[in-house]
Amino acid sequence: MQILNFTRNSLEEFLTGQGFKRFKAEQVMQWIYQKKVFSFEGMTNLSRQDRETFSQIFEITPLPEPQIFKSKDGTRKLTFTLEDGNVVEAVIIPEEKRQTLCISTQAGCPLRCAFCRTGSLGFSRNLEVREIVGQVIAAEMVLEESGQRLSNLVFMGMGEPLLNFDNLLKSIDILMDDFGLNFSNRRITVSTAGIADRIVELGERTNVNLAVSLHAVNDEKRSRIMPVNERFGLKQLLDALKGYPVGRKMIVLEYVLLNNFNDLPEDALALAKIAKLLDAKVNLIPFNTFPGAKFEPTPMKKILEFQNLLVAKHVTALIRKSRGGDELAACGQLGRLKHNGDKDA
Ligand code: SF4
Repeated sequence: MQILNFTRNSLEEFLTGQGFKRFKAEQVMQWIYQKKVFSFEGMTNLSRQDRETFSQIFEITPLPEPQIFKSKDGTRKLTFTLEDGNVVEAVIIPEEKRQTLCISTQAGCPLRCAFCRTGSLGFSRNLEVREIVGQVIAAEMVLEESGQRLSNLVFMGMGEPLLNFDNLLKSIDILMDDFGLNFSNRRITVSTAGIADRIVELGERTNVNLAVSLHAVNDEKRSRIMPVNERFGLKQLLDALKGYPVGRKMIVLEYVLLNNFNDLPEDALALAKIAKLLDAKVNLIPFNTFPGAKFEPTPMKKILEFQNLLVAKHVTALIRKSRGGDELAACGQLGRLKHNGDKDA
């Protein structure tokens, strides 16, 4: 059994069922997540007997050592080759005062958004809890070498988090646990392409921030670039977002700008209306192109005009700086391709 797939509650339940004291779960979690000790032998405050029994019951297998590709702007892409040959990626994005990790939840993605390289590569499988949390452990270990720490986590890497819902919830549980990785809810954002029937449940069962890949303001355009819109149309999505219990959380609308497709003044005005309806902020994302992409990036002058239209309607709209483009580590560029753009054999 992989111990990294257990939340604290499930580990406590399992261990007490085996006759162990409840607090053993806390001790073991602290060793793994906080001291990064991955063998029971090294857990010196456990009795010899416990160490031996735990070694017989559990495996502690974090992700294999990643290959690290560093981009000129300091962004680091961590590429993990899993035991079954699947490749997943996580990206450490350095900013002035913080280090954000972009996490993957699936190997590939079934949603096939037209502007996304990951989607163009197809879907392989959901990641296990240990493979999701393992990306955070690995990134922390990489940063530790330079005396830095992760400050924010965004579920915006490969895959649609809400299609791996149970494992997403368990991972968030471990990430926020005092005996786990101890992140505050305000530092965690889950991004969805619009799986409307899970959005409210996510809000009820966690208190993390939500980002929604909106990218178009009517069904006709949205369905052309995001096939998921055929399943959950804009009205259903907006209804779900209206029902997202916000409180201390925040909703951000992500909007990738595709030249002469969704970057017209009428798009900006309709986007402003939606943002006001949801009391949401808007992140404008310059399109990161990739080989075979069907769209062109909107020129920066036009992006600024688009932003001004939103601001004039009193909507907070930021332009997200593109990071890591030279190492295919930027938004929508992750995929099981080698960093030089050649397909894996
Ligand atoms: S943008 Fe996100 S949801 Fe869409 S294909 Fe890419 S990874 Fe999947």
